Order: sequence, then structure tokens, then C-alpha cells
Amino acid sequence: MNLTAPQHIANYIAGSLQASLNGKYIDNINPATGEIYSHTPDSDISDVEEAIGAARAAFPMWSTTPAEERFKILNRIAQLIDDNLDALALAETNDNGKPLWLSKRVDIARASSNFRFFATGIMHFSAESHSMEDKAINYTLRQPVGVVGCISPWNLPLYLFTWKIAPALAAGNCVVAKPSEVTPMTAYLLSIICMEAGLPAGVLNIVHGTGPGCGSAIVAHPGIKAISFTGSTRAGKEIARIAAPMFKKLSLELGGKNPNIIFADCDWDKMMRTTLQSSFSNQGQICLCGSRILIEESIYEKFRHEFVARAKKLNVGDPLDDNSRQGAIVSKMHFDKVLSCIALAKEEGGNVLAGGNAVKLTGRCENGLFIEPTVIEGLGPHCRTNMEEIFGPVVTIQSFKNEDEALQLANTSDYGLSATIWTQDVSRANRIAGKVNSGIIWVNCWLLRDLRTPFGGFKSSGIGREGGWDALKFFTEPKNVCIEL
Ligand code: NAD
Repeated sequence: MNLTAPQHIANYIAGSLQASLNGKYIDNINPATGEIYSHTPDSDISDVEEAIGAARAAFPMWSTTPAEERFKILNRIAQLIDDNLDALALAETNDNGKPLWLSKRVDIARASSNFRFFATGIMHFSAESHSMEDKAINYTLRQPVGVVGCISPWNLPLYLFTWKIAPALAAGNCVVAKPSEVTPMTAYLLSIICMEAGLPAGVLNIVHGTGPGCGSAIVAHPGIKAISFTGSTRAGKEIARIAAPMFKKLSLELGGKNPNIIFADCDWDKMMRTTLQSSFSNQGQICLCGSRILIEESIYEKFRHEFVARAKKLNVGDPLDDNSRQGAIVSKMHFDKVLSCIALAKEEGGNVLAGGNAVKLTGRCENGLFIEPTVIEGLGPHCRTNMEEIFGPVVTIQSFKNEDEALQLANTSDYGLSATIWTQDVSRANRIAGKVNSGIIWVNCWLLRDLRTPFGGFKSSGIGREGGWDALKFFTEPKNVCIEL
């Protein structure tokens, strides 16, 4: 199996690799070097229609394939991902700009876990039965939805792509999937892995292209019965506008502006270490990063001093260097957006305590897109900097006097994805966890993930939940059968 990055990426349709029908390509750029190193198919509705046709043709066979057989194939995919960890991690880093050690430890490791988790899950998946004493028995069938669409973003490319595809396939659906056009390489390499693992033709189809040109064709097509989308709130709204009147099932995992609430009684060292990670991991390009840090007044000065000093020391460098803590920003467009958000924060009266600038590296990365970890103070909760998602290495710090004020600040956001609470007082942690309007709450930790738990957000962070039984329920239709006795 050859898992090296090709010059020209291909779509994976009906079990084979093919160029887009219009023959057009998009440049694929390594953001750490600025080099155009491959080309991505700029597919359109005609490729999407072919993919949907292939998926429809495969559905009767795949939906009736015994769960144990699906389990075996998905497990083989997981094993092949593990066997090719180094090649996949390098491809992810070259596409996305994240440190290679992070790609290995987090992104690719999680992609194989996703397949293994849902392969095993489908072997244990069961449905309810409701007895009406001696009158009747009801039982619920959970049948695959049909052909489903999976659309994912660039920040955790293979990790989030497989987080959708694995449960969809495990539940017996056929899939038309589109990775982000900004980071297509590992999705392409997954096509090769699926062929090697013996996934039957048409069960998974991967079509590459832009959101407007290719993603929207998947969303609008009547042959697609459910859409699992992760990406921006802007695109999520557009997808809901088109898909809701067609009564498609929708799972939308969208943006965040997550509060990180720090009380004076926290475990200081652990909080400090973890808060650096929750602020700047993956250059702050994780939907779960805590971008609004709220600190109890009595420790504000101490926090400010130590956090700023440590943020300044984070090594921004070549993603291939093991010593780099921060890699490149994913694309020129996003790099410009993050810098414009920093400029806006200054206009709004923010005081930049650390960072705030682009970083110019030398050698291989002299044309790369790097930004210093940035800490800003002095902004109120309602300004744009504290209300809008930046999705980069930029955090703000604010102080609070008491629990009520902490909660008020935490909930002053249109988003509600995750929140982190730092306190040694269990009662307080429970109280706050119950009142913060977010779908995921971490107490004295961050990004500790159990794949069985419901994953998703409140408010503008989306609708629906991924993970565990929630994902398998999303990708199946319940059908109640009532038998009178
Ligand atoms: P994006 O919305 O621009 O794109 C995401 C995907 O959707 C891409 O594949 C894109 O091509 C496609 N797309 C764009 N417009 C579309 C349309 N109209 N119809 C169909 N498909 C369309 O997001 P992005 O910039 O790639 O990713 C960053 C965003 O993703 C951030 O807002 C981040 O918070 C969010 N995100 C959320 C989660 C979560 O679990 N909630 C996880 C990761 C990222």
C-alpha cells in the first residue's frame, strides 16, 4: 500500500479513485512552508451525483451485511491506520501545519480509535422493548437511515472526518463524505486504506471540493437522508436553511467561545499547565479551546503574571521539529482573519500582554504562516472580541468577584459548546456545572474524552450530539412495532 502524498488527489467513488469530472483542481498548500505541494479535485454536483448513485447501489447489500462482518471490516481499517501512523501523521502536518508530534499523538491515534470504537459499538447496539402487560408488546427496530452526508472541517482533519464516517458505516448506512478542501490529504489516504481493508465498493464515497461547489450539492440532494456536519456556525446555518425544509436528519457541531473559569482554590500547577494547553493547543484551532479565561479577583494578578510569562515562552516553530509547541496557522485566509481579530481587539481597547504578531521563521519555514500565542486583557464581556469566535492562538482574560459574576460572564455568549471549571470545592463545581449553558463541562481537566459520552453544544454551537449511542441513534431510524397479544 502506497501512502505517500500524490501530486493530484483523487475522489473515491464506487470503490475506485478518479479525477473530478470537470477536471478542475484547487491548490493544496503546506501552511508551514507556503509551498503548493499537491492539487485537490474541485468537484461539483456531477461528482456528487455519481457518488450518491454508487452509495444507493451499495445500500441494499451493506445495510443487510451482518453487524459482525461490518465490525471486522471497520476494525481492519482501524488497524491499517495504526500500521501507517507515521505516513498519516506526516500528511496531516504538511496539510494543516500542526506539530508532527501532535498529529501522531492526537489526530491519527484518535482516527483509529473512532473506527475501533464504533466497530465494537455496533456489536453491542440494541433497541428498546415496551411491554403492555398482557395486552401487547412493542419493540423498536433501529434501521440504517440510507445514504448519508458527512462534512468536516480542517482543524482536526482525519480525527473529525472518521468521527462521523465510522458510526455511519457501523450502523449500516452508505456515505458520501467531504473533507475540508483546506486539508484533504488524509481523507484521500483513507480511501486507499478502505480499499485495502476490503470495504465494498460504493459503501463509502469521498468527494473533494469546496463548500459552495461540492458540500452544498451533498446537502441539497434529495438522495441524502441525513447530514452530519462539523464546521462554522455560518455554514451550519446555511445547511440548516436548505436541509430542514427537506426534513433531513441533522447533526450540526458548530463554533465555540468557551469560558475557562478559574477559582482561587484550584490546584494551581495543574490549572496553569492545562490552561496553556486549552488556550493554545493546535494553535488555538480546536472548537473546545477555552478562549475566554475568567479568573477570581484574588488570584488575577498572580495568574496574569505567570500565564503571560509562560505563553511568551511557548516555542513557535517548524511543525516537523519535536521542540515546537506551536505550529503554523492553517491557511493564509485564516492567518489574515486571526491577525484582523487581534487588530480589532486593540481598537476595542484591549491591552495585548503577550504576542499579538506574526512570527517570521527562517529556513524551510520562511514563508510559513505563524502567529505568536496572544493574551489580551481589559475588554468587557460584550465586545466583539469576547463574543465572536477567533479560532486561533488568542485568549482574553477577565476577572470576577464571586460565583454569580463568574456564571454571568460564562453565559454571556451566543455559543455553548464547552466550559472548564477549576476549583477543589466539589459542591461549587457541581453547582456551576449545572448552570453553565454548555454541552460539555470539564472540571479540573480539559479535553479528557470518553467516546461514549454525548458530544455537542447548546445555542449557536449546534444541534444534536455525537459520540456513543447518540451517534448510532442519529444514524438509524427508530421504528416501533406493536403486537397485540
Ligand atoms: P467551515 O464551515 O468553513 O467548513 C467546514 C466544512 O464545511 C468544509 O468541508 C467546507 O468545505 C464545508 N462547507 C462550507 N460551507 C458549506 C456549505 N454551505 N454547504 C456545505 N458544506 C459547506 O468551517 P472550517 O473553517 O473548516 O472549520 C472551523 C470551524 O469549525 C470553527 O467554527 C470551529 O469552531 C468549528 N468546529 C466545530 C467543532 C465541534 O465539534 N463543534 C469541531 C471542530 C471545528
